[in-house]
Amino acid sequence: MADVMSFKDDCLFCKIMRGDIPSDKVYADSFCYAFRDINPQAPTHVLIVPRAHIPSMNEVRWDNDDLVAHVFSAIPKIARQEGVDERGYRVVCNCGADAGQTVQHLHFHLLAGTDMGEKLI
Ligand code: 5GP
Ligand code: ZN
Repeated sequence: MADVMSFKDDCLFCKIMRGDIPSDKVYADSFCYAFRDINPQAPTHVLIVPRAHIPSMNEVRWDNDDLVAHVFSAIPKIARQEGVDERGYRVVCNCGADAGQTVQHLHFHLLAGTDMGEKLI
């Protein structure tokens, strides 16, 4: 198991999880923290962030994949809590420059509340 408290001082999402920067909390457990995106791309736009500074999907490895699995097990709970599990939702992870990753701390976007069809985030 990755060290769930291994935060990085100059990381925005680590600062949010430490409570140094305010956020609109949606869900929290020992392994992840979820909050509303400041610039929502859908009526429901939640960011789900593991409680360890993993910079991107490229750094997911055998010694932290259980943390990522826990994050994934939280996603359907958050979707139910938001009331979007029946209508549907999209989960997106941007990795690297071409995907438009702007915060270098692994996170998953949960998008819902509108018919997204074929549209990419
Ligand atoms: P990325 O582009 O890296 O996949 O996603 C980063 C997301 O973080 C963006 O959707 C952006 O709107 C969101 N974001 C950036 N800064 C903040 C912030 O200070 N608070 C919140 N709640 N979201 C943020
Ligand atoms: Zn971080």
